[in-house]
Amino acid sequence: MVLLVQKYGGTSVGAIAKIQNVAKKVLAAQAAGNQLVVVVSAMGPTTDVLIAKIKELTAAADPREYDALVSIGENESAALLAQAIIAQGGQAVSLTGWQVGIRTEDQHNKCKIINVDTRRIKQELRAGKIAVITGFQGLNSRGDVTTIGRGGSDTSAVVIASALGADVCEIYTDVDGVYTTDPRLLPEARLLEAISHEEMLEMASLGAGVLHPRAVECAKVNDMTIAVKHSHKTGKGTLITMAGEKLNTVSGVAADDDVAKIGLLHVPDVPGMAAELFGALAAAKINVDVIVQSIHEEAKKNDISFTVNNEDYARALKLTEEKARGWDGCRVAGNTDVAKVSVVGIGMASAPGVAARMFSALGREKINIQMISTSEIKISCIIEKKELKRAVKSIHSEFELDK
Ligand code: ADP
Ligand code: ASP
Ligand code: MG
Repeated sequence: MVLLVQKYGGTSVGAIAKIQNVAKKVLAAQAAGNQLVVVVSAMGPTTDVLIAKIKELTAAADPREYDALVSIGENESAALLAQAIIAQGGQAVSLTGWQVGIRTEDQHNKCKIINVDTRRIKQELRAGKIAVITGFQGLNSRGDVTTIGRGGSDTSAVVIASALGADVCEIYTDVDGVYTTDPRLLPEARLLEAISHEEMLEMASLGAGVLHPRAVECAKVNDMTIAVKHSHKTGKGTLITMAGEKLNTVSGVAADDDVAKIGLLHVPDVPGMAAELFGALAAAKINVDVIVQSIHEEAKKNDISFTVNNEDYARALKLTEEKARGWDGCRVAGNTDVAKVSVVGIGMASAPGVAARMFSALGREKINIQMISTSEIKISCIIEKKELKRAVKSIHSEFELDK
């Protein structure tokens, strides 16, 4: 008997009729001879609604109470799906993160899963039941409920699949699989049959919201294949798996508009300034992404620019301004009208000219590049936010990704 772990996202369980559809699909998979563990997200916009409620009370929610509240959306969808399966003649049991022993780090709101105790799940499977588990939530060492970051149910599913030794973790969502770029942004995007863990990790980290980056990281570490498929259609979807022999120069284009830029002008050109600034940001748990430094040779001054996500922007700007006050002649400027466009491809390292082609695709559209950052398998450019869609289209066509 094959053990299948399936995860259904928010839109896939967004209404009772959709939950009934998922129940039918899950029962069909069981009837085909599989043992089933199902991980669910909250229904449709439930998590957003819960967050909006706590924000009505305060802009700075208590992290523990935030988790106590936002984790409940998954309890609703898990119970409803288990009930829908029972109503269709099946056997199912809904289980929360703490009931299945999902242990997380102590910190709240965006913590990592440390361990899963699979005993309860296995017990329910042995009893012939379908285990329907809440994604997104766990329990820390203090016995408090935690959540693992927006979009985290993908990670719950992969962690559970790995702990159970499943062969594959199926992620069901509202598109047919992973595309060369977000199909909602660019209709010419092409469905990928397969993509390596490395490339998918870059794509997800660079803004391709179809998978939670940590889910891909966990799958990579555990050699777990992820299959991304449409929840209400049939189709092979996309396999995320170990790199094959074909190393694509460019596999996809990722777009991210959750970016803000902070610039420091005329920073004194002496050792230790960058360490002081970025040390303070790190201590405040602010994640800095692209960093660029340029030198004014004559004046012995530097300009430093860096990007953060929008959530951290106000705090990062305040901290940077505090630092700059102590540096003679230094000015700070913030800008939230920026976005990041990236190309990802595992064969890029051995194929010269990718950066030049990407820059010329942007140049042809008269899109100004504000910052550049590269790794072995990706190139990212920071551009003006309103140019993002045009940038994706031009780069996608330059690399003939629609063909
Ligand atoms: P779920 O609720 O199932 O977790 P998400 O909204 O988190 O669904 O992820 C699915 C969405 O990801 C799609 O609707 C699509 O707009 C977006 N997306 C972004 N980049 C890509 C990509 N490269 N391929 C497929 N979908 C993408
Ligand atoms: N419900 C959570 C969210 O909206 C987790 C998830 O959807 O994966 O972020
Ligand atoms: Mg998601």
